[in-house]
Amino acid sequence: MSAAPRIPGFTGRLVAPSDSEYELARLANNAACDARPAFIAKTGTAEDVAAVVRWARETGQTLAIRSGGHSVAGHSTGDGVIVIDLAALDGIEFDDAAATAWVGPGVRAAAFTKAAYERGGAVSFGDTGTVGLGGLIPGGGIGWLVRKYGLTIDSLLAAEIVTADGELRSVSTDRDPDLFWAVRGGGGNFGVVTRYRLALNPIGEVLHGTLLMPATADIVRGVLELGHAAPDDLTLMPYVMAIPPMDEVPASEHGRLGLWVDTLWAGPPDAGRDVLAALREVGPILMDDVAAKPYPQVYPEPSGNRSAWTSSSIFLDDVDANVFETVRDKLAKAPTGANLAIFRVLGGAAGRVASDATAYGWRDRRFLVWLIADYAATEARAAYDAWVSDFRSALAGRGSGAFVSFMGADDPESVAACYPPDTLARLREIKRHWDPNNLFRHNHDIAPAGGVAPTD
Ligand SMILES: Cc1cc2nc3c(=O)[nH]c(=O)nc-3n(C[C@H](O)[C@H](O)[C@H](O)COP(=O)(O)OP(=O)(O)OC[C@H]3O[C@@H](n4cnc5c(N)ncnc54)[C@H](O)[C@@H]3O)c2cc1C
Repeated sequence: MSAAPRIPGFTGRLVAPSDSEYELARLANNAACDARPAFIAKTGTAEDVAAVVRWARETGQTLAIRSGGHSVAGHSTGDGVIVIDLAALDGIEFDDAAATAWVGPGVRAAAFTKAAYERGGAVSFGDTGTVGLGGLIPGGGIGWLVRKYGLTIDSLLAAEIVTADGELRSVSTDRDPDLFWAVRGGGGNFGVVTRYRLALNPIGEVLHGTLLMPATADIVRGVLELGHAAPDDLTLMPYVMAIPPMDEVPASEHGRLGLWVDTLWAGPPDAGRDVLAALREVGPILMDDVAAKPYPQVYPEPSGNRSAWTSSSIFLDDVDANVFETVRDKLAKAPTGANLAIFRVLGGAAGRVASDATAYGWRDRRFLVWLIADYAATEARAAYDAWVSDFRSALAGRGSGAFVSFMGADDPESVAACYPPDTLARLREIKRHWDPNNLFRHNHDIAPAGGVAPTD
């Protein structure tokens, strides 16, 4: 087993296959991604990150960036790659007067949400508390407050980033604005972010929980349209999935397709109760646990279980009967496992940002659907990758584009689907300027315009 090399200037811990902690350190969140990196560079400083980046550039190594380890495509690990593990870069520094915070990339969504709530503030993250801000933010960040406060990148004020030349830079709309634009949606293609500066938005108690209804074409469309027309305070993430045996739901419904309307109201409670009453009228309610709670409780304690899964996605403007039929048919014909289609209702604050303001270019889209196959880690991934990809293709005539953070596939065609053509062209130009040799390629790779420059 090989030992780790010496990296000039690196003061963190290099975990090599010969180290006892390697078997644990190599694991990412997705059990489907069972890779063996050359070594893992664990660090808690930006200087160490710069040292690893310089060394990788000089030695021609492939770098994988890991913050929270939740990459759907498994990009925070890989056979033979050098993983920069930023879990220890997990500091949070609040500036109460400015209602902002500097956060390290290793900070998890739930941890930040809890700390910010004590100050009456929140940032819109995703649906899962264990996701790292390091990877969530450059993907865009679509979650519980997306209609009230926009994507996570809409609260991003600045970032500190180690670029491919090994320099640590501070970027914002005033300093290197092109690079700052690219970081807001372009993924990990432009460098390793060592700190993000986020604006806090006011938050208090919310109404949150799940309404379960039968999944029919009318009910699905009714819920999504109501969610889109509602005030920004309402964000819905309804998903279609078979109803498992559960005490709360009559046995006659078990095994049928359900619409699980994950719901968040983050506005005045009385107005929220009226909106929820209208939502409850859309279809028969099989289960309802929506209740008032402090905002951080949208992130329950993690189970600690690792599962294997893959996914794809597509933006839709209308979920009509044809779309619903496709969803129903694909779920019925899925390989075994827990398979589901999660809708995200967009619009609201996220939709009022100009499409070219950030590298997330889908501001005008009304809905996003996330197609997920969850399966046993012992099974081969290929059948599930094929199923989610085929699912997306079946919907392609009714929608377009894809959300990069939900894409398990990373071939050039899949990456191109994640960006409108003008956005992708601009990203490729920015890549040519900041990373002409494509050091940061182990991700949904945005190749430099004109091709990769010869190594210097
Ligand atoms: C269970 C689950 C639920 C999810 N729900 C949502 C959701 O609701 N909304 C949503 O928007 N996304 C969601 N995601 C997707 C998630 O945002 C992305 O997978 C994100 O990249 C994970 O970040 P991470 O730091 O945990 O992952 P990692 O695996 O550590 O990183 C993933 C990638 O992000 C980039 N990256 C990571 N850290 C940095 C850094 N410091 N600097 C630059 N680039 C970096 C790299 O390209 C890296 O390969 C979910 C993922 C999972 C697994």
